[in-house]
Amino acid sequence: MKKHQKNTEIKFKPKCMDGSIQTAVTNRGYLIPCCYIDERIGLESPPIKKLTEVSKISEVEDIEEILFSKPWMKFEEDLRTENWPEIPGICKHHCQVRGDDNIKTETYLYKGKKVGEHKVWRRYY
Ligand code: SF4
Repeated sequence: MKKHQKNTEIKFKPKCMDGSIQTAVTNRGYLIPCCYIDERIGLESPPIKKLTEVSKISEVEDIEEILFSKPWMKFEEDLRTENWPEIPGICKHHCQVRGDDNIKTETYLYKGKKVGEHKVWRRYY
């Protein structure tokens, strides 16, 4: 995606909403929507910070207090309605439906034979 290209051109399918990925817990005890988020760039994005402000597991009686809190409900709505300004780049990166965003493919050869391949995708954060 070019710098000023609109996000409406991304086909987006959040894995946390179709059951293909589960919630996760950080090593500091915070519930997060999925394990992809658990890296600095994800945890420091403003929409995710709003979630972790209410996600400390040791501070609630029931996980549903977190899942049905206002920030988590808003996050779910933002994903569902594709409210792009509120969707972290890390989500756009991991949960877009890939089209032609494969910017290169590395092919590994050993003694003239292909032994592996690594696709490099365009990043959105
Ligand atoms: S990266 Fe974002 S949209 Fe994708 S599963 Fe995780 S929280 Fe949901």
